[in-house]
Amino acid sequence: MVGLVLTAHARPNVVVGAGIVGLAVAKALQELDPDRPTLVLEKESRVAAHQTGHNSGVIHSGLYYAPGSLKARLAVRGAQQLQEYCIEWGIRFDVPGKLVVATREEELPKLEQLVERGHQNGVPVRHAQLGEVAEREPALRVKGAIVVDSTGRVDYRDVAAVLAKQIVTRGGAIRSTEAVTSVEPRNGEVRVHTDREVVVAHRVAVCAGLQSDRLARASGVDPGVRILPFRGEYSELVPARADLVRGLVYPVPDPDLPFLGVHLTRGIDGVVHVGPNAVPALAREGYRWSRVSVRDLAEAVTYPGSWRLARRYGKVGAQEIGRSLTGRSLAKAAREMLPDLRASDLRRAGAGVRAQAVARDGRLVDDFLFQRAGSVLHVLNAPSPAATACLPIGEYIAKELLAP
Ligand SMILES: Cc1cc2nc3c(=O)[nH]c(=O)nc-3n(C[C@H](O)[C@H](O)[C@H](O)COP(=O)(O)OP(=O)(O)OC[C@H]3O[C@@H](n4cnc5c(N)ncnc54)[C@H](O)[C@@H]3O)c2cc1C
Repeated sequence: MVGLVLTAHARPNVVVGAGIVGLAVAKALQELDPDRPTLVLEKESRVAAHQTGHNSGVIHSGLYYAPGSLKARLAVRGAQQLQEYCIEWGIRFDVPGKLVVATREEELPKLEQLVERGHQNGVPVRHAQLGEVAEREPALRVKGAIVVDSTGRVDYRDVAAVLAKQIVTRGGAIRSTEAVTSVEPRNGEVRVHTDREVVVAHRVAVCAGLQSDRLARASGVDPGVRILPFRGEYSELVPARADLVRGLVYPVPDPDLPFLGVHLTRGIDGVVHVGPNAVPALAREGYRWSRVSVRDLAEAVTYPGSWRLARRYGKVGAQEIGRSLTGRSLAKAAREMLPDLRASDLRRAGAGVRAQAVARDGRLVDDFLFQRAGSVLHVLNAPSPAATACLPIGEYIAKELLAP
């Protein structure tokens, strides 16, 4: 994209991966270490090609996450900072708030627990009267609901594009179609091997999303986790029925698997998405069932954590796969909230693939996970809400990496 002259005395800080996390780290490195060049290396031909460009576009409030966790702290701060960034740079966003709804009596106590958690995390959450629910979302039928006023919407591709422009304007460089193969610290510097060259760097942040554990291993670091790719497939309401949903509606989450459950989200572009589900992807960058990678599959099935995970969540997994293959039970699940919804109101939309770190014991790593090894820092788990939290994540990582 834009060239950068590197002298022996100005070894750059290098970021691997031009998703929203890598770009935010590059921005923060420029701010904290302004006299040193910053270089971003991206294997695809554009920024935001993977998770950042295939998500729900929600600015999360920080409601669900364990109090004190990085997710909770950085999401709450991140949502605020992101909105300020959008205002500063003229990025389209809005903050309509969201409803979390209980469709069965037995879910009502879970709403109480969410209100409690929201308060612990400093999130503005309150009970909604059924009259308010009917006013906000006339087509919904629920037993109870809470409102989170701080939830917003944005297209993260727009945020990534502005971050990239800002990095380049400040004198940094983003080199696309250049894949990093390994990162090797040696004698106080870091040699970044790519499919084209070797870049000698000062500090390196590896923000490679779906490839992050693989790049860590190739660089001699034991990440202690494996990335298992989970595809999230969306359906959308056909335009003639899009008025069934006006804003953002989420069911009460399962605390172990908060990303499951059929969400109804009217995006910043006005399109109403239903989903996503969560099915194992047969390739790390597999956006359809037909995309199969033998290498990715072999790595997943030979990992003990995959089998332990399957034992733990096999039933839920089978339901999700059934939902994906037939498409029918998605409408059925959504009808619990929206009784007027017909299967013919939905059509298939796009998909995203989540990079979820899984421990050897089959546990889904819940919090963000960063691992520093000398002059290199590997981002090993940055699932949702990492897009919301990108700006404070960038600052956190840059500070950590530049510390002696
Ligand atoms: C279905 C879905 C819905 C989501 N919804 C939301 C939401 O509403 N709100 C929210 O906050 N979060 C959401 N998320 C999560 C959010 O999208 C991610 O947390 C965030 O995009 C992670 O950014 P990243 O930069 O770490 O990863 P990515 O965007 O995946 O970027 C990683 C980059 O690294 C590059 N790369 C990989 N390997 C190499 C290599 N060897 N050399 C060079 N480059 C490399 C890749 O090409 C890619 O561009 C969602 C995620 C999914 C999948």
